[in-house]
Amino acid sequence: MGKTARIFAVTNQKGGVGKTTTAINLAAALAVKRKVLLVDLDPQGNASTGLGVGYDDRKTGSYAALMQEAPPEKLPRATEVENLDIIAADTELAGAEIELIGDERREFRLRDTLRALGKSYDVILIDCPPSLGLLTLNALVAADGVLVPLQCEFFALEGISQIVRTVERVRRAFNADLHVAGIVLTMYDRRNNLSELVAADARSFFGEQVMQTLIPRNIRISEAQSHGCAVLQYDRRSSGAQAYLALADEMLAREASQAEKGSR
Ligand code: ADP
Ligand code: MG
Repeated sequence: MGKTARIFAVTNQKGGVGKTTTAINLAAALAVKRKVLLVDLDPQGNASTGLGVGYDDRKTGSYAALMQEAPPEKLPRATEVENLDIIAADTELAGAEIELIGDERREFRLRDTLRALGKSYDVILIDCPPSLGLLTLNALVAADGVLVPLQCEFFALEGISQIVRTVERVRRAFNADLHVAGIVLTMYDRRNNLSELVAADARSFFGEQVMQTLIPRNIRISEAQSHGCAVLQYDRRSSGAQAYLALADEMLAREASQAEKGSR
């Protein structure tokens, strides 16, 4: 069987929980060992900016991927990070949800495009907007697994049941294999008891689904973003860079053990 990329949607309908940060930095960390594509599906385009693709340089990207306006292989572009390509958010992306409403295959647009690219990558990560609308739905239909960043803050767990329900619905209606691949605890602050409480709560509710790796709150992570690069390129020794490397390894190990279980 030919190679085909594993596809993960990074999603949580809350804003500011670390979706984009996780998409960028996990993608860069995975790119150390794998060929990776990051798809920026948020009209705000923070993943594009965060990887050095400025607003005036968006050209054809995820809008074209959804509207199937360009050959799929024309959409990715290289980033400064070796082995990491990006499909940037183009400026028309905000209009896509409305334009797609009447379309018969509106939920499958992204899946069609990414399947055509599957042979060129090992892993594809999709950075979702902070809503569960048609853009996110396209990501969930295209994905094998869902990564849910959870900020270690008040009310973090609120809303996560909504994502789990959405995953269930998408599984029944469109994508029988979809599963929660991991809940990622982000902005963890060791000096703050609340962080520890949220982490403990998350583990008691969701057990194994919560990734072991904690992403610490680390100023180098947000600095890197404002310089348009991944924290791994900005400060490899920072706690943030090391955490995303560990998260990448944990993900790859999980995938490998699942593949083993599946083949038995
Ligand atoms: P979302 O995509 O879910 O809206 P972001 O990834 O954009 O969230 O994160 C929101 C803000 O928090 C950004 O300014 C980002 O730089 C910052 N941030 C995210 N994760 C961390 C972290 N681990 N340490 C420090 N700052 C972080
Ligand atoms: Mg974001």
